[in-house]
Amino acid sequence: MNVETMVQHANPFLNAQRQLLTAVDQLGLDRAVYEVLKEPERVVVVSIPVRMDDGSLRTFIGYRSQHTLVTGPAKGGIRFHPDVTLDEVKALSMWMTFKCAVMQLPFGGGKGGVVCNPKAMSRGELERLSRGYVRAIASVLGPELDIPAPDVYTDAQVMGWMMDEYSRIVGKDQPGVITGKPLVLGGSAGRSEATAFGCVVAARETARHQGWELEGATAVIQGYGNAGSISARMLHELGVRIIAVSDSTGTAYDPRGMDPVALLAHKRRTGSVRGFPGSQEIPPEELLTLKCDILIPAALENVITAQNAPKIQARLVVEAANGPTTPEADPILFKRGITVVPDILANAGGVTVSYFEWVQNLNRWYWSEEKVNRRLERAMVQACQRVFRLADHHRVNLREAAYMAALERVAAALKARGWV
Ligand code: GLU
Repeated sequence: MNVETMVQHANPFLNAQRQLLTAVDQLGLDRAVYEVLKEPERVVVVSIPVRMDDGSLRTFIGYRSQHTLVTGPAKGGIRFHPDVTLDEVKALSMWMTFKCAVMQLPFGGGKGGVVCNPKAMSRGELERLSRGYVRAIASVLGPELDIPAPDVYTDAQVMGWMMDEYSRIVGKDQPGVITGKPLVLGGSAGRSEATAFGCVVAARETARHQGWELEGATAVIQGYGNAGSISARMLHELGVRIIAVSDSTGTAYDPRGMDPVALLAHKRRTGSVRGFPGSQEIPPEELLTLKCDILIPAALENVITAQNAPKIQARLVVEAANGPTTPEADPILFKRGITVVPDILANAGGVTVSYFEWVQNLNRWYWSEEKVNRRLERAMVQACQRVFRLADHHRVNLREAAYMAALERVAAALKARGWV
């Protein structure tokens, strides 16, 4: 492998552009569609000075990328992570465009990030950083312009601070500017479980499409945050055995199966999944290649690569994370008969309930959790059916089919607006 391809592997934005180009060509669309969509419409880079608890002042770098507003206001999360880069945020914003389009939500794609290590910051520091970030980008946010949400290492509390800051800036209550808020501030019932619930529905529908059921299956989960831990719990409730999990600090492996709720309590107590009673620690790279029915990458990008794809022994890979599989790994898995449920479908439950939250905020009329979950399940099943139909018809993998479904919609919007 030469240096250039190695760099491409590591750069999610080049991966995203490549996926876009492939889909445009597969659909036989005008290359103008690629020209318009290959770069984000707007990218904002800001510096955020924050008073730290020790009295010192530190400047953090923040990004917001609005990939396109052609299908509606930009929508997508904000991540707080030490390794966030502008290219990563740009890629993630493009994936959000396609995720919203697969789900037929009236949004374009957006994504934000702040380079920081939230684990090493106090609550007060995080609050000042969250508010500072919103002050820096407030002019490009709004319920009809760009609506952020949680992502890696951000949660409902962070969304609450951000909504409050934005509302103070514009001088009126604006719950619809951000989703994933605490319930009391206009958050939606079911939002915190939505990504996981969507993943489990997508896994179940894909298995059924192939003629098998999840009950009795085994699962391996890489990443034990919001999406990973709640997916584990929901799968366990369906009779799936959770045989291995990992987080950024270690792994826990027990072929007899582990109780995901007890595992989460252990992680909360000790700071790691490692050392869970009865489990063994295995090297993180071995976790991905364990024999199992369902492998759920639920952390960051580029974990399934051309190097480990030949050794993966799962039946289904369900991408709870965004961009966990590199474009080189995809065809290897496909040829080996391993089905990948792509991120833009598998983890779309989160943004779908964000859409429900936004609708509830605009109407000031709130739904029961049961109604949210029923509508989410229906939306996921319908999106899966659309993608399966395209995959079967064009004999392509589920990622290519999901891109086709998404791009057809985005291209139609571009045409209807007279942009291409
Ligand atoms: N961060 C989540 C995602 O990647 C949710 C985005 C949203 O709810 O807007 O899909």
